Order: sequence, then C-alpha cells, then structure tokens
Amino acid sequence: MVIPEESETDTEESNVSGSDEDDTCWISWFCNLRGNEFFCEVDEDYIQDDFNLCGLSNQIPYYDYALDLILDVESSLGDSFTEEQNELVESAAEMLYGLIHLRYILTTKGLAAMVEKYKNAEFGRCPRVYCCGQPCLPVGESDIPRQGTVKIYCPKCEDIYTPRSRFQESILLYALQ
Ligand SMILES: [Zn+2]
Repeated sequence: MVIPEESETDTEESNVSGSDEDDTCWISWFCNLRGNEFFCEVDEDYIQDDFNLCGLSNQIPYYDYALDLILDVESSLGDSFTEEQNELVESAAEMLYGLIHLRYILTTKGLAAMVEKYKNAEFGRCPRVYCCGQPCLPVGESDIPRQGTVKIYCPKCEDIYTPRSRFQESILLYALQ
C-alpha cells in the first residue's frame, strides 16, 4: 500500500501521528488521498452485504482480493503474489470502490453523505462571477469506468466545468476543514 504523503498528515487531525497510521482503514485512507476528495466513505456494512455488490465480481480482476483489501480483511494476499500482482490488486480495489460508491450514493445514507459534501462545497464552486460561489455537484459524462474524467455541474447556471487541478482542489479542501 502506498503511504500517504507527509504533507497531508500535517494537516490532518492529531490522531494520525506516526505509529497510529495502521489504525486508518483502507476506505478512509483512500478517500483522503489527494484527488479523491469527491468520494464519500461507504459504510462497511453496505459493502459486506453481497446483495449490494451483485454483478461486480465479473467486472473487476482479482475481485476477492480487491474486496478484502477494501474491507481490511487479512488475507493470504502478498504471500504468493508478485509486486506486480499486488499493484494490480490495488488498482482493482480502487476501481471496485468506485463502482460500489456509485451504487452507495443512491441509497439514503449515501445520498445524505453526498449532500453534506455538497453543502460544504467540497465538490468546488462555480467559477462564474454571477453565480456568487455556488457550490457544484460532481457529474460523469459516461457510465463506463475509466472513460472520461469527473466534471462539476453548477445548478445555478446549469453548466458543466472542469474541476480545478487536483492539487488546488486539495488545498481548497484543507482550507475549508
Ligand atoms: Zn454557475
């Protein structure tokens, strides 16, 4: 697993100091990565319910390992895997989380989590002066994974924009926290 950059730990709450880092679950770690600010944390209960994951296993390589990684389940992962395979599992886990997230945000709890982020303008604000800093919503222009990038939608002028650079995005986020 990639260790979060040092500069990020500085701005995080005091419980993330040195040896405590192991306590961070994969989901929190992933959602706090620079560039992943648009994701909310999916409830583990939701992920543990097989019904909610129906149909995803054939879309993701290394599905079982990826799922174990997301849920921090100690598996035999890494025992026999090469470095390259471990990297494939990690990228599979990120893709799987994205697909689960897509379903989760349609549930009452997931929707509430996203509304909260919207209210906090965590998806960014409309760049148009006349929109007076209207918070935006994330939109995807395609349903196919890895096809296109996320855009932001302003409900005031009903236009779609490219988010600020990921780096700026994260600075903005820290400023808001
Ligand atoms: Zn606007």
